[in-house]
Amino acid sequence: MPSENFDPVEVAALQPEHLDAAVDAALAAFAAVTSLDELKTATLAHDGDRSPLALANREIGALPPAARKAAGQRVGPARGRVRQAAAARQRELEAERDARVLVEEAVDVTLPTTRRPVGARHPVTTTMERISDGFLAMGWEIAEGPEAESSWFNFDALNTPPEHPSRALTDTFYVGSDTSGVVLRTQTSPVQIRSMLERTPPIYIVCPGKTFRTDELDATHTPVFHQLEGLAVDEGLTMAHLRGTLDHMVADMFGPGTITRLRPHYFPFTEPSAEMDLQCFVCHGESVGNPDRPCRTCKSEGWIEWGGCGMVDPRVLTACGIDPDRYSGFAFGMGIERTLMFRNGVEDMRDIVEGDVRFSAAFGVEA
Ligand SMILES: [Zn+2]
Repeated sequence: MPSENFDPVEVAALQPEHLDAAVDAALAAFAAVTSLDELKTATLAHDGDRSPLALANREIGALPPAARKAAGQRVGPARGRVRQAAAARQRELEAERDARVLVEEAVDVTLPTTRRPVGARHPVTTTMERISDGFLAMGWEIAEGPEAESSWFNFDALNTPPEHPSRALTDTFYVGSDTSGVVLRTQTSPVQIRSMLERTPPIYIVCPGKTFRTDELDATHTPVFHQLEGLAVDEGLTMAHLRGTLDHMVADMFGPGTITRLRPHYFPFTEPSAEMDLQCFVCHGESVGNPDRPCRTCKSEGWIEWGGCGMVDPRVLTACGIDPDRYSGFAFGMGIERTLMFRNGVEDMRDIVEGDVRFSAAFGVEA
């Protein structure tokens, strides 16, 4: 039987005062550290292999077995308090560090940037180019003409009589006085006249460009807008060629299977003339009479008015020095802003005109 009277306190490191002092020293050290690095050093000093409490713990093994339990019941809780204190201090310091990082590394998103935003080409330009590209692929050419145009090219050569209301100041911008004979072109058609005068058939051209009318800028009108017109003059051209060309164009722009519809109309320089409708490229007509599937693009009408077209009036050919008995021609045209509005869901003309890069950028870098 081991002696019950064995006095374990003879080992100095295991005396309660000694253990308490070691714990107090550890707690004071932890409270004094100001960084996680310092805490790591303090933890090593007070809870590491060579710390007083670890050494005390090792002394237990040297005690007689009967004394070990009592010594363990003093050393174990002492080490537990030190470890809890170290862990608590660690959580405090981590929380302080996280809060500091949030402040120090915060980004003020309202500060002005030095980065230069990438611009974007205007969708009017890219839409005109897209339509033109389809014709270039068929071997057509691009033709251009002046924006300040003689009224002969803009009106007379296009079979528009002198009394026609479109010539009035209420419709047309005159350069100088209204008798100057120079207007800001109201359509791209004078480019067709110039092309017929300058070239000999066969002629296959598209004329994209800026046009002007005295409209106030509002949600659906603008005094400066864009058109794209096409003209073909060759032997044996008929309405069938016109129709086939338009169908090819809409399939190119709006997807295969999209077709056109022609409705009789009147234009001064074509005979016969027609309005060109485009089958709705969103619902393909399925919204018509189908209230469960309304279509915003065509307003559930199935067709979208897109432009005008017709066979070139023989008198226009004659005025341009082309023999109407040998040649015939067809022409067509559409508004680019209107195309953008129904094709891309632009609801206000002013968004197209005002030049906010955020509007253009929304169309991406469409080529
Ligand atoms: Zn539709």
